[in-house]
Amino acid sequence: MKAEETVMKKGKMIYEGKAKKLYKTDKKDLLIQEFKDDATAFDATKRGTIIGKGVVNNKISAKLFELLESKGVETHFVKLLNDREMLIKDLKIVPIEVTIRNIVAGGMAKMMGLEEGIVLKQPVLEYHYKNDALHDPLINEYHIKALDISNDHDLRIINKRSFEVNNILKDFFAKRQLDLVDFKLEFGKHKDKMLLGDEISPDTCRLWEQGTKKKLDKDRFRRDLGDVEEAYQEVLKRVIG
Ligand code: UDP
Repeated sequence: MKAEETVMKKGKMIYEGKAKKLYKTDKKDLLIQEFKDDATAFDATKRGTIIGKGVVNNKISAKLFELLESKGVETHFVKLLNDREMLIKDLKIVPIEVTIRNIVAGGMAKMMGLEEGIVLKQPVLEYHYKNDALHDPLINEYHIKALDISNDHDLRIINKRSFEVNNILKDFFAKRQLDLVDFKLEFGKHKDKMLLGDEISPDTCRLWEQGTKKKLDKDRFRRDLGDVEEAYQEVLKRVIG
């Protein structure tokens, strides 16, 4: 067996977030990302468990990262290891959450006093400063550049990639009778390259079934709509099937 084919050794846990854990491996620049069933909302003031969510989100994220890579969008994804774990490149995360919206929902509906469901004339890109205690406040590129959170060059790459991801995913989900309402992305640097990181799953995307407008995402948990596990399984079926 060649060296690169050896099984990756899981080392020390270096980070535990709300939905994922990160572990070191025997390779310096690679980590294991493990997906948990824990669910939180409203800055972790609402907590619960969505049985099977970790497995679903790991598999959906892997499939979507593979799709994006095949279309030229570089990501931190290396390979799927098992039901709950993927091997990823270690990133120095830019502390902003990039949101792209195609249809008004959630935070934008609230902020602007709009009905959910308005189809936007063009996608909206938002930056939120990653800080739970401050409720991930909305910021703009002046805040980002003035405070050196990122720079013009990197922001340009982040914006371009985010819109590319939107085009690719909107198309992919539409073929599966799902509308991609909005989603959140995180980016980070790996060996001086800006890569897409984190996850892409029903935890981080709003997905509405075409026709019925049934919500098939974390809003079922946030808003106590029921059938939470079923919704996640349905998305997995459509993504993998
Ligand atoms: N989102 C996320 N993590 C966050 C906040 C939002 O993944 O910390 C996702 C959310 O699932 C939705 C999109 O980003 O798909 C836009 O969320 P929004 O700003 O409307 O905030 P929310 O309604 O979740 O408070």
